[in-house]
Parts: sequence; structure tokens; C-alpha cells
Amino acid sequence: MDPSKPSAAEIWKALNILDDFLSGGFIREHPELIAAPAPDAADAGAPAMGSPAAAGQDAAPVRAAAAVPAGDSLASVAEAVSGCTACALCTGRKTAVPGEGSAEPLVLLVGEGPGEEEDKSGRPFVGRAGQYLDSWLKPIGLDRASCFVTNVVKCRPPQNREPRPEEIQACAPYLDRQIALLKPTLILCLGRIAAHRLLEGNASLGALRGKVHSLSGVPLVVTYHPSAVLRDQALKRPVWEDLKLLKSLL
Ligand code: SF4
Repeated sequence: MDPSKPSAAEIWKALNILDDFLSGGFIREHPELIAAPAPDAADAGAPAMGSPAAAGQDAAPVRAAAAVPAGDSLASVAEAVSGCTACALCTGRKTAVPGEGSAEPLVLLVGEGPGEEEDKSGRPFVGRAGQYLDSWLKPIGLDRASCFVTNVVKCRPPQNREPRPEEIQACAPYLDRQIALLKPTLILCLGRIAAHRLLEGNASLGALRGKVHSLSGVPLVVTYHPSAVLRDQALKRPVWEDLKLLKSLL
């Protein structure tokens, strides 16, 4: 390789910086994300905005469109969740957390499960990870009012452990009803648990990111959970790539 010529990774980095600049606001308002480490090998292989790979549909199977049962509503889902005893998570909860936001959301954000602050308040993503999530939305022109935020399971798992398969299964009808009622324009899965629940597979996050999947015809993008990024700052750059992909679909 000619050392005088830029590498593919260097070209990719330069294009991203230009893209960030042209899309406006991000560098000025969110320097903490831009300050993420230089792109690694995974970044170098990620698709650019507008590229065929970014715009292409994933080969994952598309689930049949869910019908809304007659008389169903977001309020009735929330009421059912608040009194639900369908899995063991009901025994440790203070408050069930059905989710909240726009009834006609641009984006449905799906996380894993409520944490301590959410369990106390009954509201999704209000702790540190939730505040961090808010900082992701603003640069792509979104906020809580234009989204609906919920989780795969509606009750807090003990010590914030991952929800178990039987708990995810028991809680699945509530999320399915919410998706059918909300009819979101886009879905963003926050983390592996949400992605596996909605895409019905067990692929790695690395394999699921950087693609536009489809859930009953609704474009779905996968990124890391905010808590994971708070633990590992190297994930900031991949998250920004995922947010740019989401923005390109809005
Ligand atoms: S996690 Fe879901 S299924 Fe389990 S008790 Fe809570 S609302 Fe019911």
C-alpha cells in the first residue's frame, strides 16, 4: 500500500466529519460524541449515509402486520400492565412502566427493561441512561414529544439483570399491542435484548447494526443501549452512525 495515499479508514473518517458538518449542529452542540475515539475496523466497514448498504433492507424475515383488537387503546395497555402478574417480575416491582410519549410517534424507542429510577417513577428512561438518550435525540431533530419510549419488559428485573426468556415472552403481548396501536414511522431498538425480541433472532449487535430491518413493514434500526455507551465511551461513534442512519430515514 502506498503510504502517501489515505487509507480507506482515513477516507471514511473524513467523509463522516464532512457529513457531520453538513448535517449541522452536531459538532457545535455535541462535541462530547465527536470526541469519541478514532474509527476502528468496524467503523471502517460501516456503510456511509445514503450508500446502498445503508439504504438497503436487511434480509431478516418481515413479520405479518399486527391487527389492533377492537376497542384497544394505549390507556388499556397501560392499565393492564399496571396490574399484570403474568411473570415473576411483578413480585419485585414498585411501579410497572408501560411507556410514554406521542400516540403518533415518528420513532418508537424500545429498550430492555425499567431500572431503579423508572421503577420508582413509573416512567421510562428517566435515570442517567434516559438523560443520555435525550442527548441522542436532539441532534437528529427528535425529542420525547415526537417519540414513544418503552421497554421489552414493563417491570424492573432484580439488580437490573437481563430479562429472562420467559419474562420477555410473558410481556410480549403488551409491546405487540403498543406497536399495533402506535403505528410508528420508525423503530429504534436500544440494545441486543430489544433487537432480539423484535427481530426474533439471536444475531450479534455488530451484525444487526448498520442495516435497515423491517418489522411488519416498519423500518427498524438497531443501536447500543445508552447504559452500554455510558460504560464504554468507544461506542459513541458507532451510535452516532446508527443515529445518522435513522435520521436519513426520517
Ligand atoms: S414484566 Fe410484563 S409480563 Fe411480567 S409482570 Fe410486568 S407487565 Fe406482566
